[in-house]
Amino acid sequence: MSDGTLIPPAVAARAHAQGVALWALTDHDEIGGQAAAHQTAHALGMSTLSGVEISVSFAGETVHIVGLGFDLDDPALTAGLAATRGGRLERAQRMANGLAAVGIGGAFEGALRYVGNPDLISRTHFARFLVESGVCSETHEVFRRYLTEGKPGYVPHQWARLRDAVGWITGAGGVAVIAHPARYKFSPSAEYALFSEFVAHGGQGVEVMTGSHSDAERLRYADMALEFDLLASRGSDFHSPTESRTELGSLPDLPGRLTPVWEALAHRVQQA
Ligand code: AMP
Ligand code: MN
Repeated sequence: MSDGTLIPPAVAARAHAQGVALWALTDHDEIGGQAAAHQTAHALGMSTLSGVEISVSFAGETVHIVGLGFDLDDPALTAGLAATRGGRLERAQRMANGLAAVGIGGAFEGALRYVGNPDLISRTHFARFLVESGVCSETHEVFRRYLTEGKPGYVPHQWARLRDAVGWITGAGGVAVIAHPARYKFSPSAEYALFSEFVAHGGQGVEVMTGSHSDAERLRYADMALEFDLLASRGSDFHSPTESRTELGSLPDLPGRLTPVWEALAHRVQQA
């Protein structure tokens, strides 16, 4: 429902076909796809946890906080997500202005063609437009050349506060998880601050196995999970059959010394 190319029932079917037994759909800042995702999964005999990936600004970086196993009808979470989505449209217009300044016209309208819900327009939609129009050959190249800090289509944005995002998730009965920690360009002290503050606000988990981590990074964040007494999670970051590097259900198991986040969420798992 945010920036994947498949609709939620199609992701459910693909996960099931790949042998996934327990699945959470984690759209950016949006839970509108949850009902359809759960329904399809349960019809196939696959268990689910509710999921979301909240955009947070921390120490000058955008950090993603995954929520798992929360109540879908929690009013504070719903309002928090709506507030986080607000501002994406205006940001997208400014991104398009930046691209126009280097000779790439029509990017706002172009990106919008890929968007289901205009409130959720994201860099991924611009990337698809720039590939389609032949400016770049694949989406990772678009991010490298145009959509990351210092590049013409990059617009700094104020997302949710860490304290708020963690609070919305835990307040709704879920567990908050730091997504793909190796992807952030933090100094060691800023990263330590992220983990410390996250725990202080009630955060309980960290992604160790993700499509965004190298083998060395998986080991490093397994150690961090133990150091900060965090539950460990496993996330594909799957967005599309053609753009994603990691297929659903294909990541290695978590190292045995870690406690999987789904063990702590056994009471929140939903089945048909
Ligand atoms: P936004 O929320 O608009 O800032 O866009 C975030 C999306 O961009 C997420 O879905 C990321 O997976 C995607 N993304 C971020 N960096 C890259 C990259 N280097 N290559 C491909 N996708 C990326
Ligand atoms: Mn993410």
